[in-house]
Amino acid sequence: MIALARKYRPRRFADLLVQDHVAAALRGAVARGRVGHGYLLTGPRGVGKTTAARILAMALNCERVDPKNPTGEPCGECAICERVWSGSANLDVVEIDAASNRSVDDARDLRERAMYAASQENGYKVYIVDEAHMLTREAWNALLKILEEPPPRVVFVFATTEPQKIANTAAPVLSRLQRFDFKRIGAAAIRDRVRFVLAAEKLEADDDAIAVIARYADGGMRDALSVLDQALSLSEGRLTADRVRQALGLIGDEVYAQVLDAVARKDAGAIFPVVDALLAAGADLVEFVNGMAELLRAVLMTATGVEPEGLTSSQREVIAAAREHLSAGDLLRMLGLLTQVETAIRRSANPRLVVETLLLRWTMMDRTVDIETVLRGAGTAERAPSRPEPRVEARPPAQAPPRSEPRVEPRAESRPRRADGPGEPAPEVRELIREPGPIKLEALAGSWPEIVARARERSPLFGAVVEHLRVGAIDGSRVSLSAAPDGEHMLEGAKRQQPLLEELLSTAVGSRVTVTMTEGPQPVPTGSDRPKRLSEKDMKAERLKELRGKDRALDAAADALDLEIVD
Ligand SMILES: [Zn+2]
Repeated sequence: MIALARKYRPRRFADLLVQDHVAAALRGAVARGRVGHGYLLTGPRGVGKTTAARILAMALNCERVDPKNPTGEPCGECAICERVWSGSANLDVVEIDAASNRSVDDARDLRERAMYAASQENGYKVYIVDEAHMLTREAWNALLKILEEPPPRVVFVFATTEPQKIANTAAPVLSRLQRFDFKRIGAAAIRDRVRFVLAAEKLEADDDAIAVIARYADGGMRDALSVLDQALSLSEGRLTADRVRQALGLIGDEVYAQVLDAVARKDAGAIFPVVDALLAAGADLVEFVNGMAELLRAVLMTATGVEPEGLTSSQREVIAAAREHLSAGDLLRMLGLLTQVETAIRRSANPRLVVETLLLRWTMMDRTVDIETVLRGAGTAERAPSRPEPRVEARPPAQAPPRSEPRVEPRAESRPRRADGPGEPAPEVRELIREPGPIKLEALAGSWPEIVARARERSPLFGAVVEHLRVGAIDGSRVSLSAAPDGEHMLEGAKRQQPLLEELLSTAVGSRVTVTMTEGPQPVPTGSDRPKRLSEKDMKAERLKELRGKDRALDAAADALDLEIVD
């Protein structure tokens, strides 16, 4: 069975994937009879450098080229094309692997051979030097002499993944070469090509399987098709992502999911079985750490609104779960710890210990708390307690007090579901005051310590703010708060957190509450003329609140910049 990478290797410039710029230039040079004496093809491995060199050699020697109407393309089928394409022995087209032919003698030999004309009339001698950066300085010097006075109809094509090394050892040669930089082949182009090959081979595969292949190939088409070969040889039938992973010895997404879940739950104990299972399955810990880094990067990208391409559906699930529990700050910190140990894993005599330590540090690290988030009081998202919350007994609906106003729905961004799992209400959702009917001043004031405790669960700072407030008066659903005797300094902070205060109190009393902030122990204005009787400051706060309610972006900006309304 012919390897797919070989079977589907392009035979014409037009088939060179992604490298259109190179293909067009070389084809044009052949068509116009303006082929240079030396080319340097650079780029990552598996992107078509050697293939392009062979197509050039084919185009220069093809038996079926029409001299009256040269297109620059080889036929790809004649005996000469076939020989060159397959890399078989050929007098005129010589491939040299510089990695194994580094000596000066080889270069001298090359020089002598280059002096002979091509065996075919009007033919070209083409020397393709792979891994050209491996040539010695002496070899380059010999080559330089050829290139300084090139024999007619001789073309040198140097291919390298590391052009910088050639620049260091053979700068004078470089200046005599036409350079073409090959691009990495994007994941989408690889997926398309793999699909094409599968269809041509009449084989079926899941999209996720193709995604795993493209990710693994990392920009190299040859690798992608080799991986496909490997996976296909493993078993019959439809190609699945699991089969590809198995063929490659890749670590399944569920392992990464387990690790992230343990981190979210701060469950250090869960780490050891994961590492045990990895080693038992013969997984490479370096690969595991690389995969973890790639996944964290994907979560971060998603968090910033960029959808990473080529994800499998199970990866998307892992990412969504991670986003729910880990902030961007957490992810950055995890990546930071990871990069600290990356090289240590390779060098350590005990890589297992290095990996376990890393994962334990992840589970034990303090979650990042963004200062602005704290100020907004939404810090709970990052620092909810990891201890399990007491389960709240669900009350039968019949006992639920009638409500004149709809229950407050928790704001999505300030109340993410915690690791405790769905369906288990966080404590702030519970109502403190369950008496039906209007809110009573004494009831609310009496529950204040508990309300403070809940605020503290959100963030220590928010707790401190609420602790320094007192209930001044209640008018229907309007609650007036003022500073406690020594709490004047907290009043400004409290005003900034008005929406959050309202949420806190609304959930505490079980119905929607609006909060007004008063400077001192002032009576709450009543009725429709309320705004007129508010102080100027209150009106501003009221107006800002209204605007914030309309515009989330403004809301965030107002918090971040400590915005006040300017008349
Ligand atoms: Zn041909």
